[in-house]
Amino acid sequence: MMMPTSVMGTCRETAQNISDYIEGRTPLFKRIRIRIHLGVCAGCRRWLAELRSTLKGVRMTRSAEMGIHVPPELRQNIERIFAKTLNV
Ligand SMILES: [Zn+2]
Repeated sequence: MMMPTSVMGTCRETAQNISDYIEGRTPLFKRIRIRIHLGVCAGCRRWLAELRSTLKGVRMTRSAEMGIHVPPELRQNIERIFAKTLNV
């Protein structure tokens, strides 16, 4: 499926916003772009699934929405691993 990146965002953008996304802190328009991107990008989708299960294993405190509190050190790790994995 071909979509302009202005609509679906990029792997780089997804990587940069992924921890906010997981924490449920992404603004709505960004959320939508990330959702669309995840819908078309199997790489990011697989990565997000792995990330979620990792976070579950670390026993994060869940807040009301879907939010998980990600400590700053872990956020950096996440972003680094993501960037490495996707080569962005
Ligand atoms: Zn992607």
